[in-house]
Amino acid sequence: MASGATVKDPGEFDWRNAREELDGLPGGRGLNIAHEAVDRHAGGPAAERIAFRFLPKGGEMREMSFHELSEETNRFANALHSLGVEAGATVFLLAGRIPELYVAALGALKARTVVCPLFSAFGPEPIRSRMEIGDARVLVTTPSLYRRKVASWRDELPDLEHVILAGADPGEAAGVPGSVSMGELLADADPEYTIDATDPEDPALLHFTSGTTGAPKGALHVHEAVVAHHLTGRMALALRDDDVFWCTADPGWVTGTSYGIISPLTNAVTSVVDEREFDSERWYRTLEEQRVTVWYTAPTAVRMLMKAGDELPRRFDLSPLRFIASVGEPLNPEAVEWSRRVLDRPIHDNWWQTETGGIMIANVAGMEIRPGSMGRPLPGVEAAVGRRDEDFEEGMEDEGSMEVIEDPDVEGELILRAGWPSMFRTYLHQEERYRASFTGGWYFTGDLVRRDRDGYFWFVGRADDVIKSAGHLIGPFEVESALIEHSAVAEAAVIGKPDPVVGETVKAFVALHADHEPSEDLRLDILGHARSRLGAVAAPKEIDFLDDLPKTRSGKTLRRLLKARELGIPEGDVSTLEEPL
Ligand code: AMP
Repeated sequence: MASGATVKDPGEFDWRNAREELDGLPGGRGLNIAHEAVDRHAGGPAAERIAFRFLPKGGEMREMSFHELSEETNRFANALHSLGVEAGATVFLLAGRIPELYVAALGALKARTVVCPLFSAFGPEPIRSRMEIGDARVLVTTPSLYRRKVASWRDELPDLEHVILAGADPGEAAGVPGSVSMGELLADADPEYTIDATDPEDPALLHFTSGTTGAPKGALHVHEAVVAHHLTGRMALALRDDDVFWCTADPGWVTGTSYGIISPLTNAVTSVVDEREFDSERWYRTLEEQRVTVWYTAPTAVRMLMKAGDELPRRFDLSPLRFIASVGEPLNPEAVEWSRRVLDRPIHDNWWQTETGGIMIANVAGMEIRPGSMGRPLPGVEAAVGRRDEDFEEGMEDEGSMEVIEDPDVEGELILRAGWPSMFRTYLHQEERYRASFTGGWYFTGDLVRRDRDGYFWFVGRADDVIKSAGHLIGPFEVESALIEHSAVAEAAVIGKPDPVVGETVKAFVALHADHEPSEDLRLDILGHARSRLGAVAAPKEIDFLDDLPKTRSGKTLRRLLKARELGIPEGDVSTLEEPL
């Protein structure tokens, strides 16, 4: 493998050279993420190194070496072929952080199918709509998730041919149409497998994200993305050979795939996978017991740890921990200071999003941290502050004019020069929406930022109405659509309401049909309806009844006006944000 010179010398960084850090498929047959993540280590000196330490909800820790992971993923790839699943088909994953999820993801990449992880806390509706848009052929899930979240609408997706049930009891799969037990499937499959030639531009990963309007967007990534996964793990997370790495994100979100699965593996480090949900004391204990050296987490979790007090971490030996990073939402300056004071190390914030596939802007090791800033662009990433035509709207063709703002400290949209390896290649079936995100060779991220004179980027807010709650991006339209399915609801609008711990919570405003009166019972009924459709992540926590929702002349609901009212900001201040009433 080439040395890390490309990383240390940003002046000479070039993504084409960066590709040499990886092996490519034997015989010059292209580039496959799973080969770089698993097989090249399984065939070398790291073969017996532990790839994953799974900490299950109950029972003993399970370790899996690179060698074992290679065999298991080979079995899964063979199993997909035995089911007649071909390259290019989409394999959806819906499970908690269990070993089978990781085996299926990497095995499916070997088989050159497209992997789409879904968050298991989603309700039935977000799961159904994503699988429909993504042309699901295969679903890997557990019997319990299947029963609770899929069974009710399974017939609506006739192209979903196979349901592979992880952890099914003997015979349990027989009760589900088109289903097979993953255990039985793997037991019957060959542990040898040769990955077919893979074009670096072959689709590999599909991650859904949300915009302000319309259906969720399926950002499609290709095998070439692994170049960025690998290098950014080294550059932004400081990963090196002997690390024990803990990424706390769920693979249902892009961070949990790029950095919870791929990047640590390509870098041959050991990853800790904790199946359980947040618990401050257990998290500190996990850091201690697993001797975690690099920890990648999220601001909401950090704020929850801060709430748990300064004494708690002092009870644990965190001495092996040498690097803490966080992503997904603004990291308060106080959190960086707290971490310095209480954990003895700062938190290195970094920025990226589903579409970028990997970290773009970061506070890298050794760099001066400016608390509250997301850091500076990584080598190979050209980031700037831009602006495009006032009348630009999502869905517009790439014809608008734009400017790059050179002056420091001016607010504008964060833009990235197109062309890094993990850049999304389309929004599945929404090519015009994809094209509309680019103008003049720049990708417009939808985030408002400013850059200081030393090149540090500072997050200002979103340019659109999407909501970030506990690090999860939530599309208001998807929530509103679920709300108006309730028989009493005529119209709905949702906003992100600031919250000191989770960043924002979802708040809904609804107007009722004429034959319904607001009441506490009705409020609870609508909340319950939304929760059962959407799941706890995206469902509103609060509902206000209004006689009418404020709208523009063209009939667009003015979410920003509702937000201004909620926050007590003078309404005049928002009149410029959208068309006047
Ligand atoms: P997602 O695509 O779900 O990963 O969400 C990406 C969005 O999260 C970005 O567009 C930002 O709005 C937000 N985000 C990610 N990282 C940061 C950060 N370090 N600071 C502030 N916001 C962030």
